[in-house]
Amino acid sequence: MLENKKKEQMKFIYPETLISPDEIEIYGKEEKELIPETNPFEMAKKQIDIVAKEMCLNDNIKKFLKRVERSLIVSIPIKMDDGDLEIFEGYRVQHSTLRGPGKGGIRFAPNVNLDEVKALATWMTWKCSLLCLPLGGAKGGICVDPKKLSKNELERLTRRYTTEIINVIGPDIDIPAPDVNTDPQIMAWIMDTYSMHKGRAIPGVVTGKPIEIGGSVGRETATGMGLFFVLEALCTKMNIDLKTQSIVVQGFGNVGGNIAQILYDKGCKIIAVSDISGGLYSNRGLNIKELLEWRDGKNYLKDFQNKDYNYISNEDMLMLRCDILIPAAMENQITKVNANNLKCKVVLEGANGPTTPEADDILKKKGIIVVPDILANAGGVCVSYFEYIQDIHSYFWKLERINHELKNILVNTFENVYILSKEKNVTLRIASYMIAIARLAKAIELRGIFP
Ligand code: NAD
Repeated sequence: MLENKKKEQMKFIYPETLISPDEIEIYGKEEKELIPETNPFEMAKKQIDIVAKEMCLNDNIKKFLKRVERSLIVSIPIKMDDGDLEIFEGYRVQHSTLRGPGKGGIRFAPNVNLDEVKALATWMTWKCSLLCLPLGGAKGGICVDPKKLSKNELERLTRRYTTEIINVIGPDIDIPAPDVNTDPQIMAWIMDTYSMHKGRAIPGVVTGKPIEIGGSVGRETATGMGLFFVLEALCTKMNIDLKTQSIVVQGFGNVGGNIAQILYDKGCKIIAVSDISGGLYSNRGLNIKELLEWRDGKNYLKDFQNKDYNYISNEDMLMLRCDILIPAAMENQITKVNANNLKCKVVLEGANGPTTPEADDILKKKGIIVVPDILANAGGVCVSYFEYIQDIHSYFWKLERINHELKNILVNTFENVYILSKEKNVTLRIASYMIAIARLAKAIELRGIFP
């Protein structure tokens, strides 16, 4: 057990949500070992090494892909409602614009840091390349707890952040979108701030906007829809009926809430869901509709009263016996500390980076199939791409077309990944990375290194 002082020091080095208190205790004796497994950018680089070896990738290409093109750190001073000044730190990172403008969300969370944003930007590059979208990878964030801000403070924070990063974003440069704790209203403020500076309406600067100002139908539910299409395709391969499966969903926001709702509406049994406050569990299945209404009333799941539901912590829910586990909250949830205790058949990664490379190895040995983030949760960026195209053409599609095209792209991509994984006898993650990185390697070869 670590002394409190040491725990405090570690909290400073490794933000709290990236590492559970249990992990701190377990890793207390071996602080050095903590770095590679919990620093998301180290994890992202490690994943490149693993795949590069598998592909016999040229060392220069590996070197090129391991670095980010541009990292911008900005200071955001905000006049709070009580007249005090608060300074927040924000980031925008472009990992690669090799295949097109940068694309990736913006998150507002208390532990956002540069390495986290760099990792998320890197994963966006792989995701866009895997889907063959003509986009690169980027990500942004502000280190803030948005729940502590009033609506006016949140608006000022968003507008000042947009102004600070204005020179590195734009429809041809880098197009942000929603991520953790950001929503269509925040995208509307970004679009408005950018447009005011440029002197004309430029809806294409962000995706995930409200429909009334150039957003796309189906964008809010896109990541959940995408998860469903990929899961359905996997179930067909495995010859299993999704309706007979027990499902656990960690995270009950845009991604977790939407996939839970879609699966519930299809008649699937969801035995546990959680938010940051913890989770609810019932072997007989939860009423997701009721829980979403509770969430939408700005309530935490832990406070929901139902005598048939049991409270369960986020750590324990990952270890529930179930068929399909969907981590849809944050990175670094399945680590070498808990991977051995997972009792599911499939991990469908709704979140970005929920499984560390060390945990991946353990899951593989246990025979658990992991559908990697860059494939499973790619529905969001795919419909963001549709929104971007619609904005350019000022012509908007119907929901049927959005979902049809989304399904097409994701099911075809899944098929290619699945075939390659069988051919090379590798995991779905390695196969996805092999496709994404091969496409990027070709782009590097064709474009060459400037000058
Ligand atoms: P969100 O803010 O809408 O929801 C996040 C959910 O996770 C909330 O229920 C929150 O309470 C919970 N949560 C936060 N921290 C947690 C923690 N430490 N432990 C357990 N639960 C926690 O965010 P979102 O948009 O649903 O994003 C969730 C994940 O999905 C992130 O990894 C994000 O990068 C990824 N993702 C999002 C999209 C998208 O379109 N929004 C697309 C692809 C991937």
